[in-house]
Amino acid sequence: MGRMDGKVALISGGARGQGAAEARLFASEGAKVVIGDLLDVEGMRVAAEIAELGGDAMYVHLDVTSEEDWQSAVAAAVSSYGKLDVLVNNAGIWRRGRVEDTTVEDWDAIQNVNSKGVFLGTKAAIPEMRNAGGGSIINISSTAGLVGGPRSTAYTASKGAVRLFTKATAIQYAGESIRANSIHPGPIDTEMIHQVWQGEDNSREESIARTPLGRVGTVDDIAYGVLFLASDESSFMTGSELVIDGGSTAQ
Ligand code: NDP
Repeated sequence: MGRMDGKVALISGGARGQGAAEARLFASEGAKVVIGDLLDVEGMRVAAEIAELGGDAMYVHLDVTSEEDWQSAVAAAVSSYGKLDVLVNNAGIWRRGRVEDTTVEDWDAIQNVNSKGVFLGTKAAIPEMRNAGGGSIINISSTAGLVGGPRSTAYTASKGAVRLFTKATAIQYAGESIRANSIHPGPIDTEMIHQVWQGEDNSREESIARTPLGRVGTVDDIAYGVLFLASDESSFMTGSELVIDGGSTAQ
């Protein structure tokens, strides 16, 4: 018995990093998985790898800033697998900059992907979750959505928006058994954090020093949290925040 047996899940930004780990874990727990990303080659490879292991997955091209792309991605899930139960709004981008160093272009690009993308995905998924009799939406925020950061203004603002958008969704749709929760990862070993570490004022060592558990997180550390929120094991949770950060925001 898999923890996701019978469920259909759509994961944005699922071609690599945390999203790909979630796709693999969901499929190994019995879900049918739709992977959406801009990275077509990588996304198709993840879907093929899941299929080789006996899982059920497909890839769709999805730019989370496009309402049309979201509609097609949700339609693809329903036409291929019959319904949609779970949405993971995982796609995200990061750019460096204190307030004065942040250009309007950087600001808009980050809000478009990290904040508007989550809104558009949720908006597209809700009607199908209603048809399915309920659902679970997991929005990947960040510890940067809980506390201010020294070097990423627009990113922090976007992740704060995700945190409260999640709570608005939760209270609006609880009556229809559609749940929404946010996850707040600390530093996780993916391409994104390597971009962060390229700055002269940050490094792997500095991230580890700020983390009580004394290490950087892995993609599986997050994927298991996402799995819990996606499965019926968390059926009494909505509008909640799951912090997976090695203790860094507990200080
Ligand atoms: P990655 O950069 O490895 O993965 C992000 C994925 O999202 C990439 O495949 C990326 O593709 C995709 N993506 C970016 N823009 C879009 C778009 N417009 N439409 C569709 N897909 C897009 O990073 P992570 O796996 O670490 O990030 C996953 C989530 O976790 C993000 O929301 C991130 O903000 C969050 N997070 C990450 C932390 C970390 O330390 N890594 C810490 C806290 C939160 P492409 O390469 O084409 O941009």
